[in-house]
Amino acid sequence: MKKSDLVKGLKELGLKKNDIVLMHSSFRSLGDFKGSVDDVIDAFMSVLGPKGALIVPVFGSLGILTERVKARKDVFVSEVPVGTLAGIGGRAKDVLSGHWEAETAHGEGSPFLKIAEAGGYICLLGVDQDRNTTLHSAEALLKLPYLGSCTRTCKAPDGKEVTRTWHYYPGPHRDFIGLDHIMRESGIMEVSRIGDAQVRLIKAKEMLELMVELGDEDPAFALCDNPACADCVRQRAAIFADRIANESFKLSVSSRLAGHYVPEMIEKLQAAGIKYVELDYVQGKACAFMDAQQLKRIVDDFKEAKITVSALRSYVVPEDTNGFVGKMKEAGIDRVILPLFDFFYGASAFAKEGIVVDFVNTHVTPSQAVQALLKVAPLKRRAFVFSPSGFVLAGRNPFLNAWRVGQFMKTIAQLDVADRTWDGEIRSFAKGNGEIKELVSILRCHNFSGWLTLGGGSPYPGNLEAAVKDFTHLLDTI
Ligand SMILES: [Zn+2]
Repeated sequence: MKKSDLVKGLKELGLKKNDIVLMHSSFRSLGDFKGSVDDVIDAFMSVLGPKGALIVPVFGSLGILTERVKARKDVFVSEVPVGTLAGIGGRAKDVLSGHWEAETAHGEGSPFLKIAEAGGYICLLGVDQDRNTTLHSAEALLKLPYLGSCTRTCKAPDGKEVTRTWHYYPGPHRDFIGLDHIMRESGIMEVSRIGDAQVRLIKAKEMLELMVELGDEDPAFALCDNPACADCVRQRAAIFADRIANESFKLSVSSRLAGHYVPEMIEKLQAAGIKYVELDYVQGKACAFMDAQQLKRIVDDFKEAKITVSALRSYVVPEDTNGFVGKMKEAGIDRVILPLFDFFYGASAFAKEGIVVDFVNTHVTPSQAVQALLKVAPLKRRAFVFSPSGFVLAGRNPFLNAWRVGQFMKTIAQLDVADRTWDGEIRSFAKGNGEIKELVSILRCHNFSGWLTLGGGSPYPGNLEAAVKDFTHLLDTI
């Protein structure tokens, strides 16, 4: 293959005079090329003409093509230490200047966007989408929650040393390769062979528009779905955490659903992007029966992992109320969920020590529950943990009946997100008779600021990952 073959190939791909091309390349991919690296650059420039521009990235591991472009006399280099580009040709300066003023390395105001706005192309010469930096521009434009920041001390264009930070900076692994077929099918990319190299020519503006559309639909569009990829698991967790942060409620998970051992629970909760846990069972043992030291260790382990205990749930009324209160205080637990029975008058003992008690309905109808609550809860805090599962077992439609008992919705502090059928079978969310969807929807309408606890008070037929998927689907379909 000679220089003239390369010129012919580039023209056939669709490149023409005055075009701007951002090239990512592997010189070696051309195979048996009868010419120098400079011949490749000259081939491009003879197609683009003196008024076009050939731009190359000058970050990461530089290929020899990049090195040669950088060495050209008329080269213009964008003046930032991150996402730096170099270019030759008449239009290079236009698109490369002002990179320092841009607030992000790849987003708004950066050359990557200017190239797109100017109708430019991205050329992948013997490399794949993994090298397509402009895809980071789409991520930055979407302000995806998993993006980080990059801080560097560097020389500003005026020569002064400054420390500055670029936001919406890309992190580790991406599945950019998985976006290749989408570009191919949408017709914004031409693929052909020049020499031994597979060459892709992509319309930059159309690509950005398509990617932003995909990202609006699914913020995880650029991530891989390999469950063993710790990078993408973490980035998906950031997306979920951001989504929950935009809800009015706080999301917790029962420890039984999170796992068996505390380290396992921490790992699972972090992988899911959930920051609260409700203690019911740990290692198969009811937390309410553990001693203060054991509980404190559990609370501290979670705290160290930046996970907060939202409550401890007891399935029985404590026999020794003062002892129980002392234990909670020692363990650093400030909220307790107790079953609602009209004979338990210990709530004030908790309140005295600054511990909140919320009562969960079990074996009662909604109207019985309200009567019992008025009897046993201190005036200062009359709060229900609403268990749809509990009402189903009591033979009542949770939403329909509870909504009629006005007091109930006024005093709700938590919704146990767990479902079951009339015959007691546990089900995934909104697949039983718990009217979970109706309850979540109405709480959202009221900008409910209390707790939603996945698997609260009732088992879930699956692991945490499945429950989060299930809950996400529920939110998506409301
Ligand atoms: Zn990945």
